[in-house]
Amino acid sequence: MDISLTHRLSFKQASLTVLVAFILGMLLSLIQIGVDYASEDASIDREIHSLLEISHNPAARISYNIDAELAQELVLGLLRSPAVMRAEIIDNSGLVLASVDRPATQSDYRFLSDALFGERRQFEDPLFVDHAPSEALGVLRLEVDTFAFGSDFLRRALLTLLTGFARSLLLSLILLVLFYAMLTKPVVEIIRALSDRDPRRDLAPVPCPPGHERDEIGILVAVTNQQLVNTHQEISQRREAEDRLTQYLAELENIVSARTAELKATNARLTLSNRELEQARATALEMAQARAAFLAYMSHEIRTPLNGLLGMLALSLDGPLSSEQRQQLSIAHDSGKVLVDLLNDILDLSKFEAGQLELEQIPFDLGALAEETASLLSQNAGSNVELTCLIDPQLPAQLLGDPTRVRQVVSNLLSNALKFTRFGRVDLRVEPTAKGVRITVSDTGIGIPEEAQQRIFQPFTQAGAGITRQFGGTGLGLALTRRLCETMQGELTFNSQEGFGSQFCAELPLRSHAPATDWLQLEGRVLTLCAPGSGLAEQLACWLPRWGLQQQHRNPDTPASELLADLLICDSPERLTPLRQQLSIPLLLVSPYGAFIHSDQANRLEPFAQLARPLARATLHQTLKELLAPLPKHAQDTAQTSNGHAIKARVLLVEDNAVNQLVAKGMLGKLGCEVTVAAHGAEALDYLERNAVDLVLMDCNMPIMDGYEASRRIRQSGRWPELPIIALTANALPDERERCQAAGMNDYLAKPFRREDLASLLNNWLNLTRAD
Ligand code: ADP
Repeated sequence: MDISLTHRLSFKQASLTVLVAFILGMLLSLIQIGVDYASEDASIDREIHSLLEISHNPAARISYNIDAELAQELVLGLLRSPAVMRAEIIDNSGLVLASVDRPATQSDYRFLSDALFGERRQFEDPLFVDHAPSEALGVLRLEVDTFAFGSDFLRRALLTLLTGFARSLLLSLILLVLFYAMLTKPVVEIIRALSDRDPRRDLAPVPCPPGHERDEIGILVAVTNQQLVNTHQEISQRREAEDRLTQYLAELENIVSARTAELKATNARLTLSNRELEQARATALEMAQARAAFLAYMSHEIRTPLNGLLGMLALSLDGPLSSEQRQQLSIAHDSGKVLVDLLNDILDLSKFEAGQLELEQIPFDLGALAEETASLLSQNAGSNVELTCLIDPQLPAQLLGDPTRVRQVVSNLLSNALKFTRFGRVDLRVEPTAKGVRITVSDTGIGIPEEAQQRIFQPFTQAGAGITRQFGGTGLGLALTRRLCETMQGELTFNSQEGFGSQFCAELPLRSHAPATDWLQLEGRVLTLCAPGSGLAEQLACWLPRWGLQQQHRNPDTPASELLADLLICDSPERLTPLRQQLSIPLLLVSPYGAFIHSDQANRLEPFAQLARPLARATLHQTLKELLAPLPKHAQDTAQTSNGHAIKARVLLVEDNAVNQLVAKGMLGKLGCEVTVAAHGAEALDYLERNAVDLVLMDCNMPIMDGYEASRRIRQSGRWPELPIIALTANALPDERERCQAAGMNDYLAKPFRREDLASLLNNWLNLTRAD
């Protein structure tokens, strides 16, 4: 490693020192010269004055004697002094006694001397004698050339400067050598040693330059050696760590590749088992679907003869029979109904399993649906059981959902409650909630033992061993109801206490489609005379004030004289006759259908009406309206007809099966309809061409022309666009309803059907078309 001279530390130090020493030397020389200058300047005057002093007395005597010769000698003597340029003696009359001069010395450096001391100086000494000092004899005048002194001074000054410069130069040379030897050389040696060594292999310490072991250079070398050792140790540790890391990485790579291979194998196994599972699932689904199809087919096949069986039994029961025959036929009829229910439940369950149950989303009136279902099931209620339908006034008039399935939920819960209750109340409550609606069925029946509560939702399970024997049933209803609620995104819960009754609660998230009904307001005071704690009292207390009526409740034994009102509602038929004798206000009897009073007696109680329990809001409202503001007699007749008690309508029944023809014809006849039968679709079309008809009941599967084709032709002809066509079918598959709708039919009645189902359907469609 070469460092140029000017960059060497020794050079830099030496040059700096020389510069400082030079400036200092020059300064000292200049001071010395200044001092010398001052003393030289003073010595000129001093020397000339001493010259004048020496010459004073001879010059005074010469002037006194006026001796020109001596005067000439004296001035010549004075001129011998190298500094004197001119010497003159002048007497007191101004006459020059003697005068000599010579030219000034010439030199190149003269100008310097002249600048410092002046070119020349004049000195005058007045002449007198000692005994007459006041008498002036003349003047001795000298003119001095300062160069005689200045040249000496310049020589000395030059010498002073030169020796000073030479001293500084010598000093700096000595310093340069010393610095080089003391500093630069050992440092350069260390640098060379450091740069020559290989830090990875060369572990020997850097040698210390001899003679410097104890000074700063020695310490520098020692510290550097220590740092090198540390660095070397650290490097070797790092190298070791790196080696270990590389080893770990290699091991990790091995593990990862082993795991990857394992995962690949597992993945392959999983894919295989997934494929197998998929296959198994597809097979299971296929099997479930095949089972559902088989069940649907079977139920169709069983329903057709069952329809005939039940229809015929119902017709026979309506005819004149001995009590023994009636009992036998009733048992046969009830067993047939149980068979139909069982068939329906099994079919529904298998639909769940096959994932075929599809829910509708259509607007429907849940309040009316609950009332209808309660009314249909009311015949199952024991004589000591009061069935009440309590609809919350805030319930929306229309909700969105599947009315068929909601009806199934209500009907299952209600029929259980009625089945297991011998005394007391069965209440069906419907109320809106934040998420939808809550349907609650509570009863005061036998309740469910705690140990049985866990399992009653399992299919074919009942609370106790004796239940089937005592109450009948298959143990399918609750399982189905719960599945239905869950399919509708709702839930079914219950609580029950053995011996005190049960409460089942279905929460269904049905969205509101139309707000609560705005009822027509009525006017009047209404007294309710019912047993305390009865469902009827609760229902009337809720609804009458809502319709604008003033309602007061009285105990059944209140004397007639205290019953002052515009209308009286009573729940016991026995009290009516005594009341009528004392009161002339309209009376309304609300009782089970079986306890209705005979028409002769009813006529005697006019103004009077009787309504069956459970009360439907619309029927009650209508009856109250009529009783509080009676219509003329003929108008009442029309109202009754349109209420549907007797349907006067021309019905075309299209059915190929003779037994079914008989059943449907019998039921329709009993409902007051005029029936014409056609054996197939073509015959029906033929009949329609020639006769007016209010409604067509159309079987679907028939020879020659089936119901679908016939309906399509009726609609295509465009001649009977408003004619209601109701499908009669034993096919229970879910797409059947859509198929009927697609063919142009308006509604659907599954075989076997009950007279009540048929009546409510006819009521709906005939009222609807008439209203149109
Ligand atoms: P079932 O056809 O037997 O009525 P469900 O599934 O509807 O079948 O009911 C299962 C069992 O739950 C019934 O057998 C009965 O023991 C019990 N249960 C259901 N509802 C009630 C109720 N309201 N009161 C008492 N027990 C009931």
